Amino acid sequence: MSKDKKSIFSRITYLIIVVILIFIAIKLYDRYKINNFNEFVRTEYKPYTSEFTRDDEIKYSDISSYKISSLQANDAMFYKTINVIPNTPYKVTCMVKTDNVKTQSETSSAGAHISIANTVEKSKSITGTNDWQKLEFIFNSKNRTSVDLGFRLGGYDDNCTGTAWFSDFTIEAGHKNTSTNWNFACFVFENTNVQIKSNGTTNNIKLSMTMNDISDMRQNMSRFKSACEELSKNKMTVEYDFITIKEPITTLSYDDENGYFVAPSNIENIIEPYIQQKHYDHIFVCVRLGDDAHQEDIPVYDWIGLGGMDYLGIGFSNIRLPNSAKSYTYKYDARINTFPEEVFVHEFLHSLERNSEEYGYDVPALHDYAKYGYKDEKYVGLKQWYEDYMNCSIKTNNGYIGLNEEIYKCKPNSESDFTYSYKLNEFSEPDNIFEEIKMIITKAVENVGSITMKKEENEL
Ligand SMILES: [Zn+2]
Repeated sequence: MSKDKKSIFSRITYLIIVVILIFIAIKLYDRYKINNFNEFVRTEYKPYTSEFTRDDEIKYSDISSYKISSLQANDAMFYKTINVIPNTPYKVTCMVKTDNVKTQSETSSAGAHISIANTVEKSKSITGTNDWQKLEFIFNSKNRTSVDLGFRLGGYDDNCTGTAWFSDFTIEAGHKNTSTNWNFACFVFENTNVQIKSNGTTNNIKLSMTMNDISDMRQNMSRFKSACEELSKNKMTVEYDFITIKEPITTLSYDDENGYFVAPSNIENIIEPYIQQKHYDHIFVCVRLGDDAHQEDIPVYDWIGLGGMDYLGIGFSNIRLPNSAKSYTYKYDARINTFPEEVFVHEFLHSLERNSEEYGYDVPALHDYAKYGYKDEKYVGLKQWYEDYMNCSIKTNNGYIGLNEEIYKCKPNSESDFTYSYKLNEFSEPDNIFEEIKMIITKAVENVGSITMKKEENEL
């Protein structure tokens, strides 16, 4: 071979190698692009069950969407740890599209949604097949300095199948409204029509409230307003809407401790239009789960009110009418019961107790009245205990304890807290190839981006 031929041959070989290298680089980059979740960490309840990919075809904007696909029921999420300022409202939004998203349980708060990992704090959930829509999630950082903010297909207490695409993430910080005027919604469900399984058979239980029941609830809400203002010595004021609902409750939730009860997911579809129209700081759901003809048909384990629950960041309590028509629990009578609104006060205080813990304030347990020398008295029940609880005037050897006055200002956040908000850059995507390369290198150095499997604890 002449020198020239040799040189041509080596040039061709060189060229082929370069072409192959470019081809491999493009393939690797394509693979990287499909799997690149930027700074998000992927997590699943059942590891290696769901598929996390970037989708360049089904997308909302120029940027590839973030896709989660679950052929088997799973709770799958990608999240980013975001630094937050304590006691500050935040609003997170994204666009979401779903295909055939189904929850595992019949009544469930799962679906495609935004949430804070390991908490019940979440946006509303999307199920079924839907085109792109905006999801919004408002939360308060409370006493936290960081939160794991996740975009999720599944749920805290349930799993999902189907596909969800997420895109266009934003986060902004708002300003806390310090008003101490609390706005309550009291939903009175006049009818209950549920299937209850016991010993292998299913019974259909139909119950209705009487006019007296509804009138008792109405009077108690009015008394509750006065009681909160008087007992707290005007540290808080109350406004409320009394809403009667004819549409029956058709599903109930169950746990071993309480038996049957009404969880937000049981009535979400009915109350959602009211919640969307107006902001509420607390929700009471009044319900009948038995009457003289159906004393034992819906097992309830010794509760008349149930509190401390949460629906989209709003405190949520059950108020149960007693099965016996002879009961004076909710009836005012100077010789029997002069504090019939006690259950409402008690259940609302459970929400303030829970908020106090979450905001990092010391607070005695609401059920610990006996420990501090209080008694459930005739006519007035635990009225004195509630008054001292609400005014931080429970006497102990180490001074006075009770609710911190600041807790009356810690109401659920709402849209109006974001009138003068400021945007945060937490979810910015690399803008060009150089930023992308910079991010790849940073990630390689930090070894971030590996799939982390983490089982969430289902605390309640
Ligand atoms: Zn209680």
